[in-house]
Amino acid sequence: MPYDVAIIGAGVAGACAAIELSRAGAAVLLLEKERGPHHKVCGEFISGECLPALAKLGADFEALGATHIRQVVLQAGRASLPVALPFGARGLSRLALDTQLVNRANNAGAHVARGVLVKQVLPAACEPNSGFVIETSQQTYRARQIFLATGKHDLKSLQVRMGREANAVGFKRHVKLPASVMSELEGRIELFIFSGGYAGLSLVEGGLANFCFILDRHIVKTVGSGWEQLIHYLTRQNTRLQDLLDVAKWQWHKPLAIANIPYGFVYRNPALPDIFVLGDQFSVIPSLTGDGISQAVFTARQAVAFYHQIGSGLDRRAAIRQYNEWVGQPFRKQVRTSYYVQQWFRSTTATEWGLQLLKPFPKLIECLARHTRVRFPLED
Ligand SMILES: Cc1cc2nc3c(=O)[nH]c(=O)nc-3n(C[C@H](O)[C@H](O)[C@H](O)COP(=O)(O)OP(=O)(O)OC[C@H]3O[C@@H](n4cnc5c(N)ncnc54)[C@H](O)[C@@H]3O)c2cc1C
Repeated sequence: MPYDVAIIGAGVAGACAAIELSRAGAAVLLLEKERGPHHKVCGEFISGECLPALAKLGADFEALGATHIRQVVLQAGRASLPVALPFGARGLSRLALDTQLVNRANNAGAHVARGVLVKQVLPAACEPNSGFVIETSQQTYRARQIFLATGKHDLKSLQVRMGREANAVGFKRHVKLPASVMSELEGRIELFIFSGGYAGLSLVEGGLANFCFILDRHIVKTVGSGWEQLIHYLTRQNTRLQDLLDVAKWQWHKPLAIANIPYGFVYRNPALPDIFVLGDQFSVIPSLTGDGISQAVFTARQAVAFYHQIGSGLDRRAAIRQYNEWVGQPFRKQVRTSYYVQQWFRSTTATEWGLQLLKPFPKLIECLARHTRVRFPLED
């Protein structure tokens, strides 16, 4: 039984848990199916409330060249509403963030095994406190505890998640824009809302911007899934968006895409009574609110805190049950609010009217934004 904890998935949640556990002296195995650093479909908006916790874990936003985001500009049809964010956020590619966190985990002593696809997790024996056998594409590992952090990818032997809505398709591509447009985008994220989807554009490191959008599956079926067809569709939704995309120089040979996103899912007790479930495996918050990374960091920190209580008064199942309740309760509220916000933003006309009505009440939007955020404990 060489490992105290095996963490499946080296995204934000898995890497953060690996850093904390390793720093506390646990023998940690971090398993990741991708062979090397990779891009992910994400708006790359890192919300303010998780920045101190990420910094404590060793994320160095300055060294990575993360940009600052202080304002969101909401746009629908002809309406445009700039709103100051009640929390300062950063723009940073997931490639840079995730790579740095995995390196930090490695430096803290975790054994990082890349290019290893976990296929199955089985209890090592029938007794409740026995460890686990992890069958992978490479070899079989053993660990006393499992942290499940596979993001939106379900491990079939462990869990199948059901979102309220799984018909959204997400796309992302980095883009180079003329210097004048880059300086217009400085300090802000522009969000374009239209019937059946929304798109976000903001600066990341390296003189690039990140363009990420969500479309209903039926729209993708109708307009076609080719990049030119999708962009053509988007430019017809908003004139400002058209101006920006007309001068875009797309990076990479093709965009990234993800389908069947189970928005609204929140993990419920006690589907997996012996396993800590983290990040998107615990909850899939509608991405319009840009708080999935915060949730991933939050679950990692809380899971590690409850893991440390095993043995000091709590048995494993009790610690995991308490963790699930501690995280699940606030997440359910947060995800519900975010889900209704995303639903309200589903139509161009409703959003256009809504933005006009909200214009005189910026505090109301700030308040709504706060309710879609994870509340970190004060020590974070
Ligand atoms: C379109 C879109 C836009 C978003 N925009 C934002 C945003 O702007 N801001 C924000 O905060 N959040 C955003 N999110 C949400 C955010 O991306 C996620 O909440 C976050 O990535 C969750 O982190 P995680 O560690 O749980 O999962 P992930 O980051 O997905 O990591 C999971 C890891 O597990 C690995 N893995 C999966 N299966 C296996 C296996 N069987 N064996 C080994 N490894 C495995 C994967 O390769 C992956 O590296 C967005 C999401 C979408 C879909």
